Amino acid sequence: MSSRPFDAARGRRGLLFIVSAPSGTGKTTLVERLVQVVPNLKMSRSYTSRPARAGEQNGVDYNFISRERFDAMVRDGAFLEWASVFGHCYGTAAADTDALLAAGHDVVLVIDVQGARQVRSRGIETVGIFVLPPSAATLEQRLRGRSKDSEDQIRRRLEVACGEVDEFSQYEYLVVNDDLEPAVGRMAAIVQAERARVKVMRRHAEEIIETFKAPPPGARTSGKA
Ligand code: ADP
Ligand code: 5GP
Repeated sequence: MSSRPFDAARGRRGLLFIVSAPSGTGKTTLVERLVQVVPNLKMSRSYTSRPARAGEQNGVDYNFISRERFDAMVRDGAFLEWASVFGHCYGTAAADTDALLAAGHDVVLVIDVQGARQVRSRGIETVGIFVLPPSAATLEQRLRGRSKDSEDQIRRRLEVACGEVDEFSQYEYLVVNDDLEPAVGRMAAIVQAERARVKVMRRHAEEIIETFKAPPPGARTSGKA
């Protein structure tokens, strides 16, 4: 695949993908890899009132902000969607997403099921990808293996997961995160298929078809010899 920013060059607005999964499934790991292997695909950076964990960087993993600033952004209508998850607030800034889409980048929001519902209810066209772990036991292992959460937090995340998994049918695609690279490959295939839709390719197709309307070079010289 070409690495030039073909979408920006062709003037189409970017596509908006939503990826949701129970905490610990591996959605962040998957999407971080996905944006490395698929050109012109950007992961949106959320705002959160949660404190940064060891190793997390402001402006890289999240925009870490105070609860006061988060509430002010809610009041100002700055969020495309926001939700309270495990006692902290998380949101997607409408202006950040819009700037990326307007520049022709396809964008992935890695957000929980509440946030996904809000984006859909605004009538915004999205492509939803739900990610499931291979089993509840694997999810528990991954939460423990990540060693970012206390025992209480792990229990809470597993309880919430039981409700979240029922939401899968609200999404257009389902990916089971069994082995990482094959799962990334399936996600990349979804992005490529969405990019190849006729409604997305229409403008580029019209440019190609325009070239058929001028007489082909061979036709101009034929008959003169
Ligand atoms: P989420 O963003 O869904 O909460 P993470 O991306 O933080 O999940 O992943 C949770 C843990 O599972 C991490 O330790 C990560 O390295 C691991 N993980 C992610 N995908 C896989 C996979 N396919 N196989 C094994 N471990 C995985
Ligand atoms: P964590 O604290 O583990 O990074 O994230 C906890 C949960 O918050 C995850 O389910 C994640 O998808 C969700 N999340 C992260 N950013 C956003 C966001 O901008 N909006 C919403 N609605 N959820 C988010």
